[in-house]
Amino acid sequence: MSQSLSTDVLIVGGGIAGLWLNARLRQQGFATVLVERGSLGGGQSLKSQGIIHGGAKYALHGALTGASEAIADMPRRWREALAGNGELDLSGVRILSDAHYLWSPGTLAGNLTSFFASKAVRGRVDQVKGEQLPPALQHPKFKGKVYRLAELVLDVPSLIARLAELAGDSLLAAERIEPLQGNAELCGLIVDGREIRAQRVVLSAGAGNADLLAALGVEQPAQQLRPLHMVLAKGPALKPLYAHCLGGGPKPRVTVTTHPAADGQWVWYLGGDLAEADGVARDEAAQIEAAKKEMASLLPWVDQSQTRWATLRVDRAEPAQSGLVRPDNAFLAEQQRLLVGWPTKLALAPDFADRVLATLQRDNLQPSADMPLPELPRPALGQPVWDALLP
Ligand code: FAD
Repeated sequence: MSQSLSTDVLIVGGGIAGLWLNARLRQQGFATVLVERGSLGGGQSLKSQGIIHGGAKYALHGALTGASEAIADMPRRWREALAGNGELDLSGVRILSDAHYLWSPGTLAGNLTSFFASKAVRGRVDQVKGEQLPPALQHPKFKGKVYRLAELVLDVPSLIARLAELAGDSLLAAERIEPLQGNAELCGLIVDGREIRAQRVVLSAGAGNADLLAALGVEQPAQQLRPLHMVLAKGPALKPLYAHCLGGGPKPRVTVTTHPAADGQWVWYLGGDLAEADGVARDEAAQIEAAKKEMASLLPWVDQSQTRWATLRVDRAEPAQSGLVRPDNAFLAEQQRLLVGWPTKLALAPDFADRVLATLQRDNLQPSADMPLPELPRPALGQPVWDALLP
């Protein structure tokens, strides 16, 4: 059996939630070990669109929801971190767009009236025209209205790489996890046969949390998976676009983000309503047809003759909610030394870490004396999905 270890906080799952938390704990002097069974970011995080929401999209529902309030501070916290003067030093992480846009293709949709009246949006949305429009919309044939939201879009691969740097020697590639009991309570985990004792165990394993809880014999909290069927398009004629295209309903008709492929071309990544229920029911060929039709009707001047298309099925993992309602905040549950949660959005990773740190502070848990780690097998960085699917 490998040498046993002791640490302050043992984290399982190296997506945005685990990596962000790990970096904050290390900065405060806590000893940590983060276990990842696949690749860093390779779950949902590297499949996300990288939008640092400030809640504006959720205000489309008309009434100001909890989500709008809780998330409103996230763009500021991320901007400070990206500038190197926030809670983490994320300088060097690539910002793909300084703003995300709301794009109404026809006349102003009715639901925008309450949207512009809502507090989450007031003072944070400006209409843009002409040269200020996103490059993909700068065309004489473009009709419609575009509003700039103060929400960043990040290159998630560079974010994950930076957080892996901040993790130092704390990362451990391992697959098998069993409970480690002492005095009839959980006192750590047995990880690929190695005993790791910890003052706290945090499960931030995304869709893997449910199986981990089952392995530890814990029934709550329950998890829900929300399936999505995303579409990717890569071609020489595609220009950057970061926008929620509004339809008549409360959800964006399509949400477009644009990502740099390894060969320098742009890849459009399409989500929103296109990727939800009807899109999930379509097979890959039908989903690509639906996306082609949607983009041809919205941006008919873009020459798509050389565009290649692919789809990606992925589940969003969240705490179970009645009626599959979107959760409002990062979620954290506790049971003695075990903490388990889902950030529910990439943008809410700082909120997830705050919640864990608040429990440590409440319990007056102090960083222990220096606990040097042996050299551990290190998990690899996950690869961008656009390069994997459209090489
Ligand atoms: P994950 O990124 O899934 O990481 C969990 C990690 O745990 C994985 O690396 C996995 O391998 C590991 N793991 C699982 N089980 C085990 C185990 N037993 N042992 C060891 N390791 C394990 N949010 C936004 O804010 N903005 C967006 O624009 C956005 N777009 C999205 C688009 C899509 C298509 C999807 C699916 C999500 C999007 N999200 C977005 C949501 C966001 O991606 C997630 O909320 C966030 O990435 C979840 O992070 P996580 O660290 O909890 O999970």
